[in-house]
Amino acid sequence: MSPSLANPHLFRQQCYVAGIWCDADDGTVLTVHNPADGSPLGSVPRLGRAETRRAIDAANAAWPAWRALTAGARARILRKWFELILANQEDLALLMTLEQGKPLAEARGEVAYAASFIEWFAEEGKRIYGDVIPGHQGDKRIVVTKEPIGVCAAITPWNFPLAMITRKAGPALAAGCTMVLKPATQTPYSALALAALAEQAGVPAGVFSVVTGSSAEIGAELTENPIVRKLSFTGSTEVGVKLMAQCAPTIKKLSLELGGNAPFIVFDDADLDAAVEGALASKYRNTGQTCVCANRLLVQDGVYDAFAEKLAAAVAQLKVGNGLEPGVTQGPLIDGRAVDKVEEHIADALAKGARLVAGGKRHALGGSFFEPTILADVTPDMKVAREETFGPLAPLFRFRDEAEAIRMANDTEFGLAAYFFAAGMNRVWRVSAALEYGIVGINTGLISTEVAPFGGMKASGLGREGSKYGIEDYLEIKYLCMGGV
Ligand code: NAD
Repeated sequence: MSPSLANPHLFRQQCYVAGIWCDADDGTVLTVHNPADGSPLGSVPRLGRAETRRAIDAANAAWPAWRALTAGARARILRKWFELILANQEDLALLMTLEQGKPLAEARGEVAYAASFIEWFAEEGKRIYGDVIPGHQGDKRIVVTKEPIGVCAAITPWNFPLAMITRKAGPALAAGCTMVLKPATQTPYSALALAALAEQAGVPAGVFSVVTGSSAEIGAELTENPIVRKLSFTGSTEVGVKLMAQCAPTIKKLSLELGGNAPFIVFDDADLDAAVEGALASKYRNTGQTCVCANRLLVQDGVYDAFAEKLAAAVAQLKVGNGLEPGVTQGPLIDGRAVDKVEEHIADALAKGARLVAGGKRHALGGSFFEPTILADVTPDMKVAREETFGPLAPLFRFRDEAEAIRMANDTEFGLAAYFFAAGMNRVWRVSAALEYGIVGINTGLISTEVAPFGGMKASGLGREGSKYGIEDYLEIKYLCMGGV
């Protein structure tokens, strides 16, 4: 059954390769399900290596003409794409809620956030400046230029089915690169709708292709094919490590946005109401399925009980249900495996002495719905301290002083986002400097924006997306040395 969209052309059950809507060579398909009730939404082609190779060849063929356009000419096309995304916000949000489960209001927000990357980078493409460096000899002149890397591959996750794509496609296309995208198997319809709008905006054939199907087969072609000069991946650290190894023989450039284990620190002098509001946004948005989700809430002794009580009161107001229903703030988890992991983390913590403050079990709605949960008296020996839960579980750890909080916060292989709530200016500077994280939210739980560099340290990845730094990742530096001047 097709979703009832104002613009039915946005619901595509074919791939977009070399400017043509197509099926798999062998006609096989994958079924896409609605996580809210498990019902089938439709199918997408199950492409393999041969079709992916064709998409790469088309990206390579399209590249010279695309890079030869002025940045202004590319920006005009991208601007059109941006406007079309916003004009179709309701349809895109509906498709996203149907395939991903997030509440419609959050899906609308993501559509706007996704569009913002296209707009921002369309403009930034005009500001790819080089350098003139004073020569090292009297008759020499040194000029540095920046050029598009070439054909790029992108592999994206299901938790933000649109924004994780535009955060890559925006800078790549603005810089003059071309791109072949493999969206997450669970959420291909948002990506295919985006391709339909790119086509409508006038993005030339081959500049942006979308391939769906076997992750392993498509991933193997995207990483092994020497024409692909760069891979940009957002997903788990486990898959990121594998792709990095696969890219090694052809020395591809890499951007990796991987997993996190974000600490969320509440100091004694924090505004507790603001901290609770921040914790709700950071922990329970997208039902706890964001890479920058607060994974460990570290709360200082003096405010521990008061914070737990206020957080429990706020969590009691959350409404679990189908994301299409008005007032729902917590959609389903993406699938049964995701629910198993949340359950496993809770069981492990309870067995080792944690105390249940709220929730703790599968929701009465069944399927992959889960109760928003809070655990107190959580300690570093529990699984939640080490692993990304990726679900609606807030574990509260206790700390005595600033040094202990920083030690606990940094005690992880990950380094994506960290948050802290505090009042003193000196403490704000000290703690910001001590946290080994690419992003630090200070007295806020919301940190994502197209104008700031997003990315992690340590096992959370390589490179940055968004801001002027985001476009650098799609550029090669060339140095011209002119002699005999
Ligand atoms: P995942 O690693 O399982 O999948 C990500 C993508 O990789 C999907 O498109 C998947 O189909 C593909 N994939 C899986 N195995 C592959 C293989 N062998 N070869 C090629 N492609 C393969 O991650 P997920 O479950 O979709 O997303 C959740 C993870 O993503 C979490 O760890 C989260 O922290 C992370 N994430 C990070 C960021 C960030 O910006 N750092 C943003 C969103 C999500």
